[in-house]
Amino acid sequence: MNWGDGTRVVHSVPPVPGEPFGANPVFASAYHLGGDDTYGRPHNPTWRALEAALGSLDGGEAVLFPSGMAAISTVLRVVLAPGDTVVVPSDGYYLTRTLVAEMPVEVVEAPTAGPYPSFEGVRLVLLESPSNPGLDVCDITALARSAHDAGALVAVDNTTATPLGQRPLELGADIVVSSDTKAVAGHSDVLLGHVSTADPELAEKVRTARTVGGAIPGPFETWLVHRGLGTLDLRLARQAENAAALYEVLKSHGAVRNLRWPGSPSDPAHAVASRQMRRFGGVLTFELASAEAVAGFLERSALVAASTSFGGLHTTCDRRAQWGDPVPEGLVRLSAGCEDTADLVADVLAALDHSAG
Ligand SMILES: *Cc1c(COP(=O)(O)O)cnc(C)c1O
Repeated sequence: MNWGDGTRVVHSVPPVPGEPFGANPVFASAYHLGGDDTYGRPHNPTWRALEAALGSLDGGEAVLFPSGMAAISTVLRVVLAPGDTVVVPSDGYYLTRTLVAEMPVEVVEAPTAGPYPSFEGVRLVLLESPSNPGLDVCDITALARSAHDAGALVAVDNTTATPLGQRPLELGADIVVSSDTKAVAGHSDVLLGHVSTADPELAEKVRTARTVGGAIPGPFETWLVHRGLGTLDLRLARQAENAAALYEVLKSHGAVRNLRWPGSPSDPAHAVASRQMRRFGGVLTFELASAEAVAGFLERSALVAASTSFGGLHTTCDRRAQWGDPVPEGLVRLSAGCEDTADLVADVLAALDHSAG
C-alpha cells in the first residue's frame, strides 16, 4: 500500500473489529505452552507489533532493545571479531567511541563530513548522519558503495533522522541502529532502541544475541514507544517547523555562531542531506560565547529546558561540553519541541537578546 508517513504510523497495527486499536502490553515471563510463544526472554507479542512497525518503516526486519546503546553494542558484538577494524565517527554519539575503545578491535575515527580513510581491511563502517551533536551529514550511498567494494559492512546510527527522516537501508547500508528514546518515543519518558537489517541471517543473529545476552525491552516500555510512534509524523512536522523558524532568527543573531540545521539551504550539509533525507527534524546546533552565556540563556527562557536528551515534546537545550564531547564550551544542541512557533521564537529571542548585551 502506497500510504504516506502519517497514515503508516497511525495504521502500524491494522485495526481489527472487536479488538483494541493499539498493541496493548502483554506481560508474561512464561506462556502456557502450545502456541509459538514459550518464554519472555525470546518471545513477546508487544515487541513483535512494534518490530513489525519499525521494520516496515526502515525497509527491513527490526529487533528491539532496551536502549539505543544496547542496540549498538549488540551489533558490534555480533559483527566484530577480535582483531577486526571498525570505523566510527569522531564527532558522533560519544558512548559509541567509549564502547569500541573497550573492545579488542582496531578503531579508526573519521569525522562525519570526511575525509574518510580507505576501507581496505575494515570489517564494519559505522556512520551517524546527521551526527550528534554537530549535525554534519555524510553521503551514505557513496560511502556504502566504497565500503562494500572493500568488503566492509555498513551500519548507520539513524537516531537523529528517525525512520521517517531517512531510510539508510534503501541508501545501501546493511544495518540501521536507532535510539528510539529520542523522537520515535518522543515524550521524554522511556528508553528503547532497535536494530534493522534487510539481511534475514543477520537479523536472526542479532535476535539470538538478544535472547542469549538477556538485554530485553520491557513490554510496558515497548507499548509506550508504539503509542508514541503514532504521532511521530505530526510531532516531526511541528518540530521541523519550529526549527526552521528558529534558524531564520538565529542565523543573523549577534550572540549566535556556527548555527547548523541541515534543513536550511544555507547549511553546508544541505545538498547531501536533501538528496538522502526525506525530511529534516527539529534539532539545531549552535554556539554561544561561553558556558556562562548558555546558563544565562537557559535561566531567562521560559520554554527552553536544560536536558541532555532530544526529540521530545518540550524544547530542550544541551551544552555538550559538560558531558565531555570534544566541542567548544558554549556549543549547544537545541531540540525544538511541539510548542507554538510564535511563542517559541519570541521566548528564545527574549532570552538571547539579554545575553548579547
Ligand atoms: C541517545 C543516542 C544514543 C544512545 O541511546 P540510548 O537510548 O540513550 O541508549 C545513540 N546514538 C545517538 C545518536 C543518540 O543520540
